[in-house]
This record gives sequence, C-alpha cells and structure tokens, in this order.
Amino acid sequence: MIVPRLIERKRDGGRLEVDEIRELVQAYAHDKVPEYQLAALLMAIYFKGLDRDEMDALMEAMLESGKKLDFSRLPLPRIDKHSTGGVGDKTSLILAPVIASLGVAVPMMSGRGLGHTGGTLDKLESIPGFRTALSLEEAQAQVARIGCAMLSQTDEIVPADRKLYALRDATATVEVIPLIASSIMSKKIAESLTGLVIDVKRGSGSFLPELDDEIELARAIIDLGSRHGCPVIALLTAMDRPLGEACGNALEVVEAIDVLRGGGPLDLIEVTLALGAEMLVLGAVATSREAAREMMHDAIASGRALAKLEEIVAAQGGDASVVRQPAKLPRARHETGYLAKRTGIVQRVDPRTIGYGIIALGGGRTTMEDTVDPSVGFVVSVKPGVKVESGHKLGTIHARNKEGLTTGASVLDDAILIGDSAVAALPLISHRVTARGVEVVDQGEP
Ligand code: URA
Repeated sequence: MIVPRLIERKRDGGRLEVDEIRELVQAYAHDKVPEYQLAALLMAIYFKGLDRDEMDALMEAMLESGKKLDFSRLPLPRIDKHSTGGVGDKTSLILAPVIASLGVAVPMMSGRGLGHTGGTLDKLESIPGFRTALSLEEAQAQVARIGCAMLSQTDEIVPADRKLYALRDATATVEVIPLIASSIMSKKIAESLTGLVIDVKRGSGSFLPELDDEIELARAIIDLGSRHGCPVIALLTAMDRPLGEACGNALEVVEAIDVLRGGGPLDLIEVTLALGAEMLVLGAVATSREAAREMMHDAIASGRALAKLEEIVAAQGGDASVVRQPAKLPRARHETGYLAKRTGIVQRVDPRTIGYGIIALGGGRTTMEDTVDPSVGFVVSVKPGVKVESGHKLGTIHARNKEGLTTGASVLDDAILIGDSAVAALPLISHRVTARGVEVVDQGEP
C-alpha cells in the first residue's frame, strides 16, 4: 500500500477500494502510518466525500481494529443514545442512569470534545477519579452488574476511531457526513446494541447547519445500523442555541445532576425525555412514548435515577459523593455575572461562539496533546425570544484567572445578540427519522 497514491486518488475525486480502506485503517491503528498522511487523506475526504460502500468499509475497518463487547449472556435489551455533537448537550449524563434504572442495559461509548462541541468523556472526567478507559472485561462486567458503563474508545475497543477522532478534531476535518456516521457507528456496533437513538443536532451550532445534510446524516447512520442489525431512530433537535444553560464540563455535570434531582432547564428536560422515550420503546420496556415518559418521571421523582448515577460513578472509580454534593466538583477560581448591554429581545445565543469560547478559556483542546480544565465555561440563562432589560444578568462566566473573565465577556458579547424584534428560532425537536422515512414532529414552540 502506497499511502500517497491513495491520498492522490481521493484528492482527485476517485474511490478507495474496500481492501485499501481496511489495510490503511489497520496500519494506522497500529501506528504504521504517520499522522500527517492520515491528516492529508482526511482533508481529501473532507472535500471529495466517501460513497456508501466506502463509508461502510471505513466503519467496518474501525470496528475490526478492536474487539466488540460481548453481551450474549445478558438477558436485557441494550440501548444507547448518541449525539452528533452540540454545545451544552448533557443529555447522555442524564439518560444513562435514568434508562439503566428502568431495566434497559446502557453500554455507552462516548467521545471527547470535537471541534466547538463538548464531549461526554471530558464531562465525566470532571468528576474526581472517574475512569472512562475501561477494559473490555470491566465494561462487560459493569453493564451486567449495574446496567450501565460509560466508556471511551481504548487500545482494545475501536482504537482506530480513538485516533481518527482526535486527529479530525485537530485538523478541521470533522464536518463530513461519512466520517461522522462511520465514527459514531463504529462505536455503537462495538457495543453490541439491540437498538440506538441518535440525536442529530440542527442549526448553526451543529456540524451540519443545513437541514438536507442533517437528514442525510440521519439516513446514513440508520443505513449503517440496518446493515449491522442495529435498529436506529433519529430525532433532529435544535442546536441554534445551547441546550440548557450550563456550557463547560463540570458546569454541565452540575446541571445534569439538577435534572436527575427533579430540576433543570425545560428545554434540556424536554429533549432528554423525548430521546429517553424512544430508548425505552426501542428496548420494549415501554409500550408507548407516553408510558415511557411516565416511567422516566417516576425514576427521577423516586430518586432511583440519581442513585444509579452514584452507582456508575462509584463503579468507575469516581468520587460518588459529588452526586449528592455537586459543589465538590471542580470550580473555577474566578466567576462573574454577564449583564445585558441594552434593553430588547434576545435574537441569538450562538452555540458555536460559546463552544469556541470554552476552548479559549482552557476547557477544550486545540491540539491533540492539550489537557482540559474542567472548571471553566459559561452559564447562559437566556434564550432567543426572551425580553431583557439593560443591566439584567444574562449569565455567568467561569474562568481560571482575570484574563479569562475578560475573554469570556468578549465571547458573550459576540454570542448574545439583543435587538428590537424577535427572530425565528428552530423548533426544539423538528423531525423523527427511522428506516421507514422522515416524520415532521414540529412542536411549534421553540
Ligand atoms: N460523535 C462521534 O462519535 N463522532 C463524530 O464524528 C461526531 C460526533
């Protein structure tokens, strides 16, 4: 295999053969191809794309780079949920314990921050001691024992996605449908699921801001699932503003715990319940989405979901006391309110600006080697359409030093636009995509 020839062919719009993709991915996973060659190939794919067969071959090759979890002796449905990437999107932190507390196994392999979006692994690792790099045996045993494990790709499980994911993040080659779909599905097929719910983010803060691309991504993921015996349901949800209020790793864990205690922002609760309802129906433990919602309300009101989170944190070496005392999570040394500069109507709260703002504060990566400060970020308590008075508090900046507070303020100056009239926002949940087709959900209210 002569890698420059493959790069050249893709660059010029040609196809890669299944065997070439397999050989290349195996070699890369075993450090036999330099990062710069893969980076060049990713950029060629960014511009020229991959067809369905190439995408399937890439997904298979990433899957074959490691081992699959084996649940052949687990008599439970195994359902996971994955997001295509957003800002303030902490639904996984809530859904994993809620759904696991209701008799569905949730083997959840997540990602780190990617581009401007946050990653579940980085959020979990803000819990002191929490270990996401579980071995195959540990993950299987934990799912069998407590119904859930929240893990990362490792040398054993989809190592090729672990490397490619980090490389895409550092080389601006994230926003490509076949790369996103194959990255997500390599992890999900490795989990040996009986069903998957995908949250496809829509709008300016998503990787694919155009509706046609979002639907194509949902279809590509559903297709990969069908080819590998995993039924997939996708919901398209708004990412033209952050989900919930907290944006930043530890801040998001605090907000997720708040929801598990029966509180939390309404938009976050609604998206979480909608995704969870699909998971419970797919897992055949609820007969309808309405019944599933009742079950989730009960799991939260009874404290069972919160207790399940404690179990998961303890099982993975984390300090489980943070679940009852979230104030023990890392907290930035500097904190200040952000005030409205004028009276008017909030027209925009731009997730992309906020996501890159978190990285600027130290809460994300710009190179593969960067470490993440879990404490920094923003809490933005206004949404588009809300009337505000000059001087009213719109949010809080959490930074590690005074310069960070200044940077944070200029990030929010750019992200939050106040005008004289309301500007249309996307509906919170707009479409439901299954193997049968696309339904418009359109709740009307953003
Ligand atoms: N989530 C993933 O796992 N991979 C992507 O490429 C995007 C979101």
